[in-house]
Amino acid sequence: MSVAVLNYSDIVLHRVTTRHAVRMLVRKVAVIVEADETVQFGPYPRPLVVRLVREVFATWLYAPAYCTRRGVLRRDRNRCAYCGGHAGTVDHVVPVARGGRLTWMNAVAACLKCNGRKADRTPAQARMPLRFSPWVPRRIDLLG
Ligand SMILES: [Zn+2]
Repeated sequence: MSVAVLNYSDIVLHRVTTRHAVRMLVRKVAVIVEADETVQFGPYPRPLVVRLVREVFATWLYAPAYCTRRGVLRRDRNRCAYCGGHAGTVDHVVPVARGGRLTWMNAVAACLKCNGRKADRTPAQARMPLRFSPWVPRRIDLLG
């Protein structure tokens, strides 16, 4: 049985176990919104929905960002993963034609020239090693 964790504006952030939710209540980082009063966990009824009392913005900021082309360019600071030059396009490391998808771990910023040269090949096939490994950014990593 999982418990919904709401942020400040009542939007569901994620779900946690009942055990985890009770620990949040004990630490006073969350309050009960809905509970099953027929079951007690120490001084608390079993939480069904809890709401964070603080660090709401931080929670949002530290969550993994949703992957978009614009996000990939931001993460890689518009640096081409192949030559280090200015990048304005996004390259699928494993090409779409080979089943690659737009995910943080399969996308890098690339300049138009490198993107065209690599075409529908993997970096190994194209003999174009990546200068850095893709990684999953948090929202805060994509700001400013
Ligand atoms: Zn390049």
